[in-house]
Amino acid sequence: MNRRLFLASAPFLLGGCRDTRPAALAPPSVEDSQTRLARAAAFRVPSSAVRTTPKAPVDVVEQFPELKALLKVAVRLHPRFGDEPTPTESKLGGQFLWPAGEEWPRCPEYQIPMQPLLQLRLENAPAHFPFRPKTDLFQLFWTPKATKNVGPPHLTAIWRKIPPAIGPLAPPPVTDGADLGYVPLPCRFFIERVAEFPPVELMPAQMRTKVEVWKPPVDYATHLSTAPGTKAGGWPARADVTATCLTCVRPMDYLLTVDSCEWTAVTKARWKPAEDPDEDGYRCAAGLRLGRSDAAAYQIYICRRCEKWPLRAVMA
Ligand SMILES: [Zn+2]
Repeated sequence: MNRRLFLASAPFLLGGCRDTRPAALAPPSVEDSQTRLARAAAFRVPSSAVRTTPKAPVDVVEQFPELKALLKVAVRLHPRFGDEPTPTESKLGGQFLWPAGEEWPRCPEYQIPMQPLLQLRLENAPAHFPFRPKTDLFQLFWTPKATKNVGPPHLTAIWRKIPPAIGPLAPPPVTDGADLGYVPLPCRFFIERVAEFPPVELMPAQMRTKVEVWKPPVDYATHLSTAPGTKAGGWPARADVTATCLTCVRPMDYLLTVDSCEWTAVTKARWKPAEDPDEDGYRCAAGLRLGRSDAAAYQIYICRRCEKWPLRAVMA
């Protein structure tokens, strides 16, 4: 079996794992998990469904041809609840391709198992998404811990080669000690590629000046720049959020975003997929409740200059 496996653990993050106080939240009970699943069952999306972002109301490249060079294609992952995808498919949460007998990643601080967060196949990933040589499956895990008073969760990433035959797999780890708001319900991705343009703060100075004085009929940042929700690649929505590698102290590259929900009252006119009713069961299908507001997103960054490809999550 030509299976290659690489592991990159995020080093201790600022504040993120220094809080040694007992968890403020009681461990979630089995009933909690069942209640979440029962609620999600009312919002099942069939695997044959698609999700379509409405067309941009203004053609920014027509307005500013120079912006064409800054266009990036983001993969909106559109996680929705339904029949769980197989362990080799791209997915959020649920059963990952994790061979039985392999040691489960553990949080170096809280000593609880990390939870499967996001699994992405090479063909579903955006161009230039980092894959180790001869691998075709990216698996991201994090510490499922409330971080209302501390920093972002620890991350671990694995890159695998999907083997031709799948042997026995390890079930997802128990969620004892976890904050269920950080444990996604198993969701299928309804992948859609969309064009994004940089937040003005990330534009070259001359371009930025032009866009800042432009008076489009809709707000550039909300309607024309970056997609909200869980996505891979493209531009980071929050330009004022950056990450520095804790190993080499150089700026890290934006990788993906994990979001509590897919749209808000502000963004829905532009970014709510046409097929989705405006209901929380679709809007926040994975049951993620991130950060102090329960509605935060994490922008996740990677450093490929360092051998282990360390990752960091930054609240956005
Ligand atoms: Zn580095």
